[in-house]
Parts: sequence; C-alpha cells; structure tokens
Amino acid sequence: ATTGSAEAGVVISRFGQQAIIASESGETVRCHIRRTVESLVCGDEVVWRRLDQQAEDSVAAVIEAVQPRRSLLSRPDYYDGVKPVAANIDQILVVTSVLPAFSTQIIDRYLVACEDIDIEPVIVLNKADLLADIEPELLEHITEALALYKRIGYRVLQVSAKAQQGMADLHQLLRNQVSIVVGQSGVGKSSLVNALLPNIDAEVNVISENSGLGQHTTTVATRYVLPQGGVLIDSPGIREFALWHLEPERVAWCFVDFRPFLGLCKFRDCKHLDDPGCALQEAAATGELAEARLYNFHRIIESMTLKKPSRATSR
Ligand code: GDP
Ligand code: ZN
Repeated sequence: ATTGSAEAGVVISRFGQQAIIASESGETVRCHIRRTVESLVCGDEVVWRRLDQQAEDSVAAVIEAVQPRRSLLSRPDYYDGVKPVAANIDQILVVTSVLPAFSTQIIDRYLVACEDIDIEPVIVLNKADLLADIEPELLEHITEALALYKRIGYRVLQVSAKAQQGMADLHQLLRNQVSIVVGQSGVGKSSLVNALLPNIDAEVNVISENSGLGQHTTTVATRYVLPQGGVLIDSPGIREFALWHLEPERVAWCFVDFRPFLGLCKFRDCKHLDDPGCALQEAAATGELAEARLYNFHRIIESMTLKKPSRATSR
C-alpha cells in the first residue's frame, strides 16, 4: 500500500528493478520501479512515493511514472539494437587533445553523433599545457581547426586537467546544465572528471554499498551534482558514446555547415563527390565551405558502408 503523496525526483542511478533517486530536497532515496514504467535511465525525471512499510529488501519508496524526456542518449547494443543510457542531457563535452593525436575526423564523428540526437556539443581541447612544446605546423593546424569550429557555431574551450588551466571557464560552462564527457581513450576524460569531482570514488562506493548491487556500478550511468554548480552524468558506457550507422542524407544534415547547401545539388541523389552540379563541391571550391569538413564527411560515409552493423537475430 502506498501512503505518501506524489513527489518529484531525478534518477541518479538505475540497478535492475531498483533506482536511486535525488528528491527535490536533495535527499537520496532508494526506490522500486513500478512495472508500468517501461524505460528508466539515469537523468530521468520521475514521480515517486514513499511506502508506509519497508519491503523485505528494506526499500520504502516506489517510482510510479517518468516525465517526458528533453533528450535521450542511447548506445548500440549487441542484442537490443539500441539501448538508452541517459536522459535529459543538455550538452556533450567532446574532449580532444594533442595527445594521443589531434584529429578533426574524430571530432567530426562526435559532432555528427551529437547533432543526430540534438544535444549541443562543446569542443574541449584538454592538455593545453602541451601546446607550448609542439611543432609550429601542428600548433597552426590545431589553431585553424578550432577557429573553423567556432566559425560554424560551436563553442570551444582549452583546458588542462593536469595544470588546472581553464578550469574556471569549465565550471562556468557546466553551471546550470546537465553535461556528459565523451572522447577517445587517452584524451584525459578521467582526469577532467576527477578534477571536477574530487570525491567521485567515495560517492560511487556509498551508492554501491547501500544498494547491495555494487557489481553494476561500473556499467550503469550515475548523476553527480558538481560542487561548483551543474550536473555531470558519467559512466564508461557514456564515455564510449559514438557514431553508429546513419543514412548518408542524415550524416550530411548533421554537418551543420552543409545545411545551407543541401537541396541545391543538381541531382537529388547527389553523393557530393564528383557529381556534376554538386552545391557542396562548388561551395568548397569557392571557400564558402571548409574542404576539410567535406573530406571528413566522405570518410564517415566510407566507414559506415564498410562496417554497417548486422542486427543480431538471436539472443
Ligand atoms: P581518458 O582515457 O580519456 O580517461 O584519459 P586519462 O584521464 O586516463 O588521461 C590519459 C593520460 O593523459 C594520463 O597519463 C594523464 O595523466 C594525461 N593527462 C590528462 N590530462 C592532462 C593534461 O591536462 N595535461 C597533460 N600533459 N597530461 C594530461
Ligand atoms: Zn552534392
């Protein structure tokens, strides 16, 4: 029997048929999930109630409903095709750095993935402390690439987790927003998250002890309130967020600087390669469009036709 009145909360972390939520007053509450709640992930805004009695497992609250989501991050799943991992994210920090390697191809893949799910990306160049010691040609390449991203409308931040540079700007960026951190292995995501959340390990441990479901803590997403303001949702599954298969037309639309030219090509099925009357090729020739972006677009299309994931048929 339920007794308490309906309250609002946000899912911090979900473990099977249980979730840990933050109540409106900031209290952490462990809840069962009603079977009528079809899908529930970290970041979901929920309606929950306290129970008059604790269940056998000492859980004394239940989640009854989920509010409509403003955004949803999913990842490809071997069995289910696509698996939702986090809801209501406002912005995605695409972390990049000069080490292991600065790559606009990788950045563009992340930007396309963000545009596809309509969550605003912010490019964060970490390890800015290393820029003083690199080849002038590489520095110029990085500077030009970042200037291009700014020109086409993206926010760009330079930080150093190690030297604690640009951290005030980063705190400012994260304030009043729900953010996640993504990027290639080795760019410094863990270092940045640790700099933002000095007590992250302690918090994760508290959650896993309370729930008795500690083995899941490395795979589920968890929501952290940042001491400097804002919310960070993090998990290894989220950091691996990447682009999977999209139709070529969709990829082109996700290159935001292509949009003014889409639909102007002579042929409707234009591949934007050597097709006659291609508006994108013409724009690249006149400098209205950056050639590097068109080049990266083709590399993404190529990689998608090479390894289109085959849907799993059995479980
Ligand atoms: P992740 O794989 O993206 O989580 O990257 P890590 O946080 O594990 O960092 C990879 C390596 O880069 C580690 O050796 C870090 O010490 C180093 N690193 C991280 N941030 C910085 C930075 O701002 N400057 C420098 N020089 N090294 C950094
Ligand atoms: Zn074209």
